Amino acid sequence: MQFTETRGNDEIHPAEVTFSEAILSPIASFGGLYVPKDLPKLGKPFFKKHLDSTYKELALDFLETFAIDIEKEVLEEALSLYDAFDDASNPVPLVKVEEDLFISELYHGPTRAFKDMALQPFGSILSHIAQKRGESYLILAATSGDTGPAALETFKNKPNIKVACMYPGNGTSDVQRLQMVTEDGENLKVIGINGNFDDAQKALKSLLSSPTFNAKLTEKNIALSAANSVNFGRIIFQIIYHIHSYLELIRQEEICMGEKVYLNVPSGNFGNVLGAYYAQKMGLPVEKLVVSSNENNILTRLITTGEYDIRESELIPTTSPAMDILISSNVERVIYDICGAERTRELMQALEQEKYYKLTPEELKALQENFLAGYCSDNEASAYIKYAFDKGYLMDPHTATCFKTYEVLSGRGIKTIAYSTAEWTKFSPTISIALKGGEVLPSDLEALEAIAAEANIEIPQMIQSLFNKEIRHPSVIDKEEIEDEILAFL
Ligand SMILES: *Cc1c(COP(=O)(O)O)cnc(C)c1O
Repeated sequence: MQFTETRGNDEIHPAEVTFSEAILSPIASFGGLYVPKDLPKLGKPFFKKHLDSTYKELALDFLETFAIDIEKEVLEEALSLYDAFDDASNPVPLVKVEEDLFISELYHGPTRAFKDMALQPFGSILSHIAQKRGESYLILAATSGDTGPAALETFKNKPNIKVACMYPGNGTSDVQRLQMVTEDGENLKVIGINGNFDDAQKALKSLLSSPTFNAKLTEKNIALSAANSVNFGRIIFQIIYHIHSYLELIRQEEICMGEKVYLNVPSGNFGNVLGAYYAQKMGLPVEKLVVSSNENNILTRLITTGEYDIRESELIPTTSPAMDILISSNVERVIYDICGAERTRELMQALEQEKYYKLTPEELKALQENFLAGYCSDNEASAYIKYAFDKGYLMDPHTATCFKTYEVLSGRGIKTIAYSTAEWTKFSPTISIALKGGEVLPSDLEALEAIAAEANIEIPQMIQSLFNKEIRHPSVIDKEEIEDEILAFL
């Protein structure tokens, strides 16, 4: 399988690359992305064959149909990381919440958010490629809270890889921050930045373009790479659990083979729902992909009106911060499928320069063939958290946004698989207020204890123990000091 570019070729980059190349240098010509040249088709026999498979068997067969340039043993080793999830035999449980609503829980990995689903195997494969090539990589990451812990966890003590992770000093929850600053791998550097997520991201961008920084890296024989969510090495693992969840719904005797369902995905950078879109294109019976957002509703507006308009938009901080986004990068891959490379380049440049683009009526119609969208306010999400809890289901505020779109679509006689992207432990202050009221956000520890008491459950050991672990990365610094801090670490 070869990969091609979403914005056409500039005659500097290769026009086609292998999977390894696409994941080592994920940015293509004109700032575009890599997409599979021809997506393999999975027929009914494939789905039938895997009705009785384990998650790993399904995943391995799926990856083999993709024919990527990674040996089977390496893939097997990467997939074996799912054995460390809560239930090794089923890393992604599907839970019935309403007659026609099922929640696929993607958070049962080491850092309790869906990022582990892809980053766990991705880290293993990237390190393997680096060793095979005899190259060393520095992975730079800027995180608003979930990617950082998942990236540190997957690359910890991996040969030929170092990670520098920047997080907003006043932007993450206590649990997210502790997950990062207590990490103890020798190859990890975690830096708090005075500022918000935007400042952390700007710091990353200025490092990438700093001549002194790049010269120092070359001197040390270290290449730069990124583990962000546009990397196809992450997307490929985000297709598999959509297939698994569909098969699980058949196994639970809720649907028949071939019956169409809604896949309802809480979305930010569009990586998760892009995986669902590829699963549908490969043959999974899906009625519509439902894109759920919070009040940063740029995706709802695009999918309902065809306009991507951020001229007047400012980021609104919400209680589902992993979905607080204005530029949703993975949308580009769908635009490419609909419009082709030349038009994608034109639209993406318009977005960069004029903060605006508009699809033609035909393009919008093509987008709406696959996608529906809606958004949920913080107050509504809070009410859904309480509602679900009273029915016996404890969920986080990102997952709650799906309930709004689900409700709008209910009564159409089609079952919904919605995705839960984080465990309650990662966003406990918001959940505590939803369940018990109160004006001021409690600390994470107070909130965890309050929810555990209310729900009559235990705080998971891996979360509880964070509060007693040694802080290994205490520094919170100004943007200007980051370059020196990372060079000193290297
Ligand atoms: C990253 C994340 C999302 C958004 O996923 P995308 O793939 O960026 O759309 C939603 N919820 C949680 C908890 C996340 O960590």
